[in-house]
Amino acid sequence: MPLNIPGLLVPFQLVIYPRIALPHVSIKDIRQLNFRTLKKAGYRGAVFDKDNCLTIPYQDHLVPEITEVWKECLETFGDGNVIIVSNSAGTYLDAGGIQAESVSYHLQVPVLAHKSFKPAYSCISAIRSYFSSLPNPVKDNELIIVGDRIFTDIVMANRIRNAHLNRSNALASPSESTNAANTQSPDGPLAIWTTGVWKKEAMVMRYLEQSLVKAVTRWSTGEPFDGARFLKVIPAPEIKKPAKWLPGWNIFQRS
Ligand SMILES: [Mg+2]
Repeated sequence: MPLNIPGLLVPFQLVIYPRIALPHVSIKDIRQLNFRTLKKAGYRGAVFDKDNCLTIPYQDHLVPEITEVWKECLETFGDGNVIIVSNSAGTYLDAGGIQAESVSYHLQVPVLAHKSFKPAYSCISAIRSYFSSLPNPVKDNELIIVGDRIFTDIVMANRIRNAHLNRSNALASPSESTNAANTQSPDGPLAIWTTGVWKKEAMVMRYLEQSLVKAVTRWSTGEPFDGARFLKVIPAPEIKKPAKWLPGWNIFQRS
């Protein structure tokens, strides 16, 4: 596995601005997301990670468990407004873009070609170029960014968000920024962290990332983001009680 230099440099930024590691929403997997509510709130585009978010690492097809919700996501956001940004498919490691083409075929969405790994600023530029080139361009704050890794997916989402906020503040006069805050424009990009893994991989790093998120959450002040409105309530699997006659049957078996 090649070194992800942009990812390795993240801890230096964390020292100055630890909140860059905080997701807005944490979910086990994307079945918990209510895409229709997100769309109603003004989010019009979605960036998804691939490995351990939508697919098993090194595989090109969707995990069967999320087939239905993926279809719902594509129908909600529409053609071209959902893309995959992976640190495998679509990078320089993907010779000739063969894996990107295969993933794109199986998942029915474009896979972004990018030169540097997430969360590099050049990767962010590639995402921005893609969404601004659409017939109905999607702005940074109208994006949701979904992934399973803090140091790549979540940091990248927060970098885009910070750049957007800085740009908006620089462009707007104080009265304009108050008006902008009062409009229906969504407060994105929304950083969505999937904590479940479809196949165990980099578990030590994941443990460290979880510990970091817990520590920064405890340390941070300010209103926590209300992400619950974007979640679906998924009923817990029914646990069947053992039949009343079973203990008796077990005793019979042991005798
Ligand atoms: Mg991943």
